[in-house]
Amino acid sequence: MIVHDMVIVGGGLTGLMAAVQAPPGADVAIISKVYPTRSHSGAAQGGFNAAIGEDDSVEDHLFDTVKGGDYLGDQDAIEVLCSEGPDVIRQLEQMGVPWSRTPDGRPAQRALGGAGFPRACYAADISGHVVLHTLYERALAAGVRIYPEWRLVELLVEDGALAGLLVYDLATGRLEVVRCRVALLATGGYGRIFRKTTNAHANTGDGTAIAYRAGAVLSDMEFVQFHPTTLYGTNILISEAARGEGGYLFNADGERFMARYAPQKMELAPRDVVSRSIFQEIKEGRGLGDGYVNLDLTHLGADKITRQLPQVNELALLYAAVDPTQTPIPIEPAQHYSMGGIRVNLDCETNIPGLLAAGETANVSVHGANRLGGNSLLETVVFGRRAGKHLVKAADRPSPPPRSSLELALARWQAIFCTGKPPQPGDDSTSAIRDAMSRTMTDKVGVFRTGEELREAVEEIAALRRRYRALRVPPGEHPFNYELIEHLELGCLLELSEVTAGAAYRRTESRGAHYRMDYPRRDDANWLHHTLVRRGGDGPVYEAGPVSITRFQPQKRGY
Ligand SMILES: Cc1cc2nc3c(=O)[nH]c(=O)nc-3n(C[C@H](O)[C@H](O)[C@H](O)COP(=O)(O)OP(=O)(O)OC[C@H]3O[C@@H](n4cnc5c(N)ncnc54)[C@H](O)[C@@H]3O)c2cc1C
Repeated sequence: MIVHDMVIVGGGLTGLMAAVQAPPGADVAIISKVYPTRSHSGAAQGGFNAAIGEDDSVEDHLFDTVKGGDYLGDQDAIEVLCSEGPDVIRQLEQMGVPWSRTPDGRPAQRALGGAGFPRACYAADISGHVVLHTLYERALAAGVRIYPEWRLVELLVEDGALAGLLVYDLATGRLEVVRCRVALLATGGYGRIFRKTTNAHANTGDGTAIAYRAGAVLSDMEFVQFHPTTLYGTNILISEAARGEGGYLFNADGERFMARYAPQKMELAPRDVVSRSIFQEIKEGRGLGDGYVNLDLTHLGADKITRQLPQVNELALLYAAVDPTQTPIPIEPAQHYSMGGIRVNLDCETNIPGLLAAGETANVSVHGANRLGGNSLLETVVFGRRAGKHLVKAADRPSPPPRSSLELALARWQAIFCTGKPPQPGDDSTSAIRDAMSRTMTDKVGVFRTGEELREAVEEIAALRRRYRALRVPPGEHPFNYELIEHLELGCLLELSEVTAGAAYRRTESRGAHYRMDYPRRDDANWLHHTLVRRGGDGPVYEAGPVSITRFQPQKRGY
């Protein structure tokens, strides 16, 4: 048995930022299924929003975020996000983050969608990578114990409170019990429930699903962000920075079609608006090829593209064989961000004593129904910092020893493996179920939704879950058992697909990223509330939760 005071699951920006808050000598460990610097945070390109510009203000950032989220975001949480932003940006700079600079030496800022000002601090277009590496070095210097390629399998909960974690070490193939006083889940998003996504393969929502199984409440799972500009075919992200630096979107007729949908903000309208506009153009026959539009950067000039957008340039060359200094880039929308997650309060506490959550896996509800570009990276460091500080405070809690929870978890673990004949070619498989699940989600729970398709999706996912329950993995807890890992991940993905489709079916209105063709209007009278979901004996149990509205009453949202 391994024992630490504080355990953080996840080595992305949230987990690392939390880890470096502990005082010298504190007993903190990070458990991460991928090596921390390979976390998805490292792929983030655009930047971190913070109102540090002379003409900008926290108030404006707050309003843009509330409006961007279509009034579903909790305004007390958004206030924390926006008002702590400038200080966190300065703190990161002091830790050694080399922000890109203005000629007079201040951190440079670029415009991202839905913002009234150029508000995103960045490091060229490798912002996430740069901050991730800086924080990682800080964590190593602080003596944080890191368990790389260790995977959380279950949370051990005794009498409703956290007692420890069951963890699988990929390199040895051993199962370990980790005891701790408090734990933070910083396990990222679950974009891999969709077939078309910009998310890393590791983004399978393990922490979210494992917490849900252990009794945590999830919220707003129906709100899924689709990014407008991903490379056609591969869905590799072409950062919003490309439009922030002045890129245009064109349809087959050579029109800058955003003039039809968002005449003021044009290409820099929020992502939900731009993604729907692109699909509308394609649907009405103004797309190119078999379903894409063009992102044109050529007018920016080779110098600006290679200096400000080196990664965009490289990705287009490598993965689409397009030189963006000469030719427009073919793009299509794809899943990008999970607004929903584990319900937490402003101290990042879940409803399970001893268990915290922050970052993309959590839902403190700063993004409401639609996240603005640059606000998620900010959330990872603002709420990562808050979670880290709260972990330290909460670590004097005595944690109950894991007893019956451990016995049950070990019994469930044993039941994964087959005892008789191993699976034969042609038998049902993890990959077949996963393929069907991700197709259902992309085809029926996408940008445009209808009640009929959502109901079909709910039924299809339920059938896939039944097939999954009948699967068994060949025995052998041997090193690097990816068959086992994929099996565990699929269980998490199915659990989250079920509640994403289910919550989307229930919400009979359109708000932010959730667009119902059969209910095309926002309906504040009936739906200005969060969707909360718990796991009941017979499946998900949904209820409504209040939205914190402190300063801005809901208004019509136009751009
Ligand atoms: C391509 C791309 C570009 C983006 N660009 C921007 C941007 O410019 N601006 C912005 O604001 N947002 C951006 N985002 C969103 C933002 O990057 C993410 O929301 C954010 O980085 C998530 O950070 P995180 O710390 O919550 O999780 P992650 O960085 O995803 O880290 C999750 C961690 O959890 C660990 N983990 C997961 N499951 C387990 C398990 N079972 N056991 C142990 N460990 C586990 C992983 O190993 C990993 O270390 C982008 C996202 C993508 C996909």
